[in-house]
Amino acid sequence: MISLLAIYEIKKPICIYICGRNTKLGIHLIPLIMKKFICSTNTLFFLLFGLSNIAYGQPGENRLRALVKNVSFLADDRLEGRRAGSNGEKLAADFIAKQFKRNRLRPLDGLDKFFQPFEINDGLTIEPNSSLKIGNAALEINQDFIPMPFSNTGEAAFAFNSLQLYNINDLIQENEGNPHFDFNDALYQKIKSLYSCPNAAIVLFNGKDTVLTEKFDAGNKKAKLACFVLYVSPRVAHLLEKENTDSLHLNVNIIESKRTGHNVAGFINNNAEKTIVIGAHYDHLGYGEDKNSLYVGKEKQIHNGADDNASGTAALLLLSKELNNKKYGQYNYALVAFSGEELGLYGSKYFVEHPPLDLKKVSYMINMDMVGRFNDSTKGLTIGGFGTSPQWGNIINTKDEYFKIKIDSAGSGPSDHTSFYRKDIPVLFFFTGTHSDYHKPSDDADKINYNGELKIVDFILAVIERSFGYPEIVFSKTREAAPGGKSSFKVTMGIMPDYTYSGVGVLVDGVSDNRPAQKAGIKAGDVIQQLGSFVVEDVQSYMQALNKFKKGDETEVKIKRGNEAVLIKIIF
Ligand SMILES: [Zn+2]
Repeated sequence: MISLLAIYEIKKPICIYICGRNTKLGIHLIPLIMKKFICSTNTLFFLLFGLSNIAYGQPGENRLRALVKNVSFLADDRLEGRRAGSNGEKLAADFIAKQFKRNRLRPLDGLDKFFQPFEINDGLTIEPNSSLKIGNAALEINQDFIPMPFSNTGEAAFAFNSLQLYNINDLIQENEGNPHFDFNDALYQKIKSLYSCPNAAIVLFNGKDTVLTEKFDAGNKKAKLACFVLYVSPRVAHLLEKENTDSLHLNVNIIESKRTGHNVAGFINNNAEKTIVIGAHYDHLGYGEDKNSLYVGKEKQIHNGADDNASGTAALLLLSKELNNKKYGQYNYALVAFSGEELGLYGSKYFVEHPPLDLKKVSYMINMDMVGRFNDSTKGLTIGGFGTSPQWGNIINTKDEYFKIKIDSAGSGPSDHTSFYRKDIPVLFFFTGTHSDYHKPSDDADKINYNGELKIVDFILAVIERSFGYPEIVFSKTREAAPGGKSSFKVTMGIMPDYTYSGVGVLVDGVSDNRPAQKAGIKAGDVIQQLGSFVVEDVQSYMQALNKFKKGDETEVKIKRGNEAVLIKIIF
């Protein structure tokens, strides 16, 4: 589940931790030395203790074992947190594909084996041919200089007396005591205000430092400037200040690098007219490299993502076996393990934009994301997308005997069903709630409630069976979940942002009826660049900007429509 839109309240899980930091009940029973051994890997833990949770010799034992085995594998340290595009993702993808094959699924049209590769923006990289020379003497990158990520690129030469040197310590001092001081933003604005850009080279240094302290910010989203901007060590700054007949030669080559993620998709072909898509994302945060972790410790740690979302993936694998049964022959089934979800629904978005099956023939989509923390006391199960078809009200009995069902009618939410909803496909989203291990290294396999998860799998199978009684699951549009959900947002515009957009600003993917954006005339495809006086660089800064307004406020939105910049008045 993506953190940006983590829309539910944090609830403390009830489970008993043994290996985690929050050691509670039961730990006194295990000698310390044994604890060390047991806790060395999730798998070992399960061999010794995990299965004690499971009633042996009862029907469903094999199904439970399958869930335990699959979560344990996917959430093992060996997979290093299954970051999209990493080696751990590859191991997980192979594991899923192997089970699809064993369960006699076929690859969807055009997919090699079961894999659907897609590109992920991996931020900016300085290419190795980037250089800086004084006369003929080459300077050392990262030691003597770095180009700023928003610098112009290409080759150029500058006479010393044309260089514009700026001591960033002045900026830091100017802002001493300013609680809203954002260094990167302030520096960018400063450069824009101080210097006229084309054909200029701006050289930054910090007069207080003795060595180069600045690091290249690969995640920068600020628009590229027309001038060259370099950051140099104080030693180099000192050289450049002197009279010199040499010139400064520079070659700045910054590229947007990409990595490849893989959806894994299998098909159960019953030669039916319609197909049900069942999905769960299998990627997670790795070591938190993409800055989507809530872990605050300094030491690098693996985020195993057992609940998020080894749990949903294990349920998907179980369903891939059990749906391949005559009993369910009324539909075909596409089972899709998505990647890139944690980065902003990359995989599911790619899937619906490059569908390996005819989306018109998709009856509905079921998404499972974080279904492993069912609470045996409160019995809460959230079902999202309830408003995406009028039939859901007939098919799903919200007064279930076992589950306490919490309905969320919105078709958009913090996970992959959103991508299908945006293609006018009815969706259901199953979720057992967030918890204190959410997006932290402590989301481990020993905290999964496997019995609870199996009950959810059964519930989903029952939903599928009951849907057979309806000739068509009709799509209906729903209200939009506000970004941030039950958050402190006083206003929203009613747009659906494209989380995979790598450019500067927020690309509007869709606009909700009768909301401020639609009333103002904002359309899908527009890129929001500024809200009032607040610059919008990405979804995060868009949300921060929204926070500055209240109901009834009127402001101007700067958008890019095609190649044109347009100013639009909006009333919240
Ligand atoms: Zn997540």
